[in-house]
Amino acid sequence: MRKLFFILSISLICLTSIDAQDYTKVVAKDSLKIYNGQESVYNVKNYDDNFVAKKPTNVILMIGDGMGTTQIYAGMTANKGNLFLNNFLHSGFVQTYSSEDYVTDSAAGATSMACGIKTYNAAIGVDINKKPVKTILEKSVEKNLGTGLVSTSAITHATPASFIAHQPHRNMYEEIAADFLKTNIDVFIGGGYDHFTKRKDGRNLAIELEKKGYKVLKDINQIKNFKSGKLAGLTAPEHNERVTIRKDMLQTSTQTALNLLSQNKKGFFLMVEGSQIDWGGHANDLTYIVEEMLDFDKAIGVVLEFASKNKNTLVIVTSDHETGGLTLNKGNISEGSMKAEFTTGGHTGVMVPIFAFGPGAENFTGIIDNTDIPKKIEKLLNL
Ligand code: MG
Ligand code: ZN
Repeated sequence: MRKLFFILSISLICLTSIDAQDYTKVVAKDSLKIYNGQESVYNVKNYDDNFVAKKPTNVILMIGDGMGTTQIYAGMTANKGNLFLNNFLHSGFVQTYSSEDYVTDSAAGATSMACGIKTYNAAIGVDINKKPVKTILEKSVEKNLGTGLVSTSAITHATPASFIAHQPHRNMYEEIAADFLKTNIDVFIGGGYDHFTKRKDGRNLAIELEKKGYKVLKDINQIKNFKSGKLAGLTAPEHNERVTIRKDMLQTSTQTALNLLSQNKKGFFLMVEGSQIDWGGHANDLTYIVEEMLDFDKAIGVVLEFASKNKNTLVIVTSDHETGGLTLNKGNISEGSMKAEFTTGGHTGVMVPIFAFGPGAENFTGIIDNTDIPKKIEKLLNL
């Protein structure tokens, strides 16, 4: 019996470490479960969701990895009750299970949101038979819309990868990087430079990207000032640092992507990921979650500012799954403080929220499935 328990615990540790292995460099050793309002509070602007257009020409899908309702409420509490997310009047819930598991991973979750199918955990843009399935980003390229991906992880990591690559396993970073060359994406910004340049096959994809007409930039200040053309922004050798070090990289990258994509008169599809909310959850670190949640919310602010002026842009904010089984059992909104409990170091199977703003937002309410998201976007963009 004891032996069985030992084997079970070892296999459990192995299972969770498979998912967490990428994050060891960025995760703090000490897990913090109390948040004392140390983050400086920012002001939130109000935007009216009141547009004449019935259908959008642009869709921005924003994914908070590992962002359940509790992660959002932790951010809201820390910012003393206000988030840019508070501007969204249409909301609902999303079922996230994968083809094989009640609890999804980020690869299967993102593939569902990119391709409209259920698949196995670790799948990147492929179905249960490992066959490639066309993504909404690829369909947008075919219709000559602008397309972009922005992420605070490596751009080759599961969430952004599932919108552009087709590989049987999420750990095939170099194969995923090579898939970027097979598409006509206009802009991608995230980490992962080494997956393009330090490769087993000897190819230098940075040079190949330049030959294909992309400007390859590593420096965020140069990315910020890039005004037109195709852009490959590779801001870190692998993953970007956590927000305390990378600062406003996500907001800056999102703004750059919007500047570039809005030049396409036919419209565009952009996916923006707040990747590291998930890593705070894996680390059971409340401070990490709050910092990344607020950073993601500020990127939502950048997008709302654009959408409110553009008037033909649908903004969707959702998540692939919840991480950590987080709950808040003590808190004070006026102080921005709270105390958390976690039930796991992995993901959970609970529904995640979805929010929509702009023309077509009313389609994203009630309880839907993650596979419904791209189907609804395709209808709205006539893909
Ligand atoms: Mg992710
Ligand atoms: Zn995760």
